[in-house]
Amino acid sequence: MTQSVNLSQGRSYLGIPGPSVMPDAVLRAMHRAAPNIYEGELIDMMVPLMADLRRVARTTGHVAMYIGNGHAVWEAALANVIAPGDRVLVPATGRFGIGWGEIAASLGAEVQLIDFGISAPMDMGRVAEVLEADKDHQIKAVLGVHVDTSTSIRNDIAGLRQTLDAAGHPALLMADCIASLGCDVFEMDAWGVDVMAAASQKGLMVPPGVGFVFFNDRAEEARARMPRVSTYWDWTPRAHPEAFYQYHCGTAPTHHIYGLRVALDMIHAEGLENVWQRHAVLARAVWAACDAWSRAGSFAMNVADPAHRSTAVTALRLQAPLATELRQWTQRNIGLTLGIGLGMSTPEDPKGDGFFRFGHMGHVNGQMIMGLLGGVEAGLCALNIEHGSGALEAAAKVIGQGGAYSEMQIT
Ligand SMILES: *Cc1c(COP(=O)(O)O)cnc(C)c1O
Repeated sequence: MTQSVNLSQGRSYLGIPGPSVMPDAVLRAMHRAAPNIYEGELIDMMVPLMADLRRVARTTGHVAMYIGNGHAVWEAALANVIAPGDRVLVPATGRFGIGWGEIAASLGAEVQLIDFGISAPMDMGRVAEVLEADKDHQIKAVLGVHVDTSTSIRNDIAGLRQTLDAAGHPALLMADCIASLGCDVFEMDAWGVDVMAAASQKGLMVPPGVGFVFFNDRAEEARARMPRVSTYWDWTPRAHPEAFYQYHCGTAPTHHIYGLRVALDMIHAEGLENVWQRHAVLARAVWAACDAWSRAGSFAMNVADPAHRSTAVTALRLQAPLATELRQWTQRNIGLTLGIGLGMSTPEDPKGDGFFRFGHMGHVNGQMIMGLLGGVEAGLCALNIEHGSGALEAAAKVIGQGGAYSEMQIT
């Protein structure tokens, strides 16, 4: 019998949808002694940093920074505009939509949930029916997750705004772009988004620990009508860099600010449109490989229609428990970490061992994606999991052609 050799030594690769791979330049910028928080460089950095953050969100509105993760900014966004007893509409397309609704409920909001399941985008017709039925405008906000990271569904946030406008409904449009910002195309102002939540550890390529709430003047007016907002979550002082630093909000996230400075410089040096294009091409390479694998056995992409897929994350299915076994194999044998299936348990698969995910967000390039896909191919072969052939060649073609690959070829 031949002895199998463990091939996991070497630089490991985190192919999960956040935290994403962090650029060495970001890590180097953070590796420093504690800075002066009263005056000098750190203070001077804040105004341009916030301007460059707004450029990534495509907004001329305001941005408030919090020491916290995505869950923190979910709460921060709501705490400024939703009072106990207010109603919010949650058109959910996965675990993250439902999770944001749960935070709203915990703050005392009345949550009206439309659950679109785990493989379909929001159906705007159904959202329109609910809005039109709300004649006396009890719904104060619609909470839309742009990319639901659990299912990899990308929703049409501009379409959600059109749906609100067509119904003549004044509710705020609030978007969760925690997974999508800096990956999938997003235009806060052009799409009419009033409040948007994002965090550092996905497309923004910085360790988890800072979150952002972007808001426009309409949202600020809603904030002014609130009976009370807790001091910590209040976005008003945080949207003003001087106040943020010196007086109102506690110690600043000093090292994250240095890391974020470098990450934003990288994004703007590449050009935000080019960043979006890169994600689109790399996602198509992932999908081309997945299409090939899907031609035999149980392998399948969770979202059938490419028009509704995120370019930042891909959720996948394999007959349970093969998804978990594949993840464990790549982890133990070749130093590749794949994402778990999140919130995807079903009565037949209570532990969700039939789902897994690839993260392809942020600091990713062609060779990293080929490495990810090659590692998965190795695992499929090692575990004798039935799959279609030609996946790596299909992905290599997309990358080799630099994305000159029409959507038609995907299916
Ligand atoms: C990651 C993520 C969250 C949660 O962020 P945490 O930092 O893990 O709290 C929320 N929404 C979406 C869409 C996400 O991708």
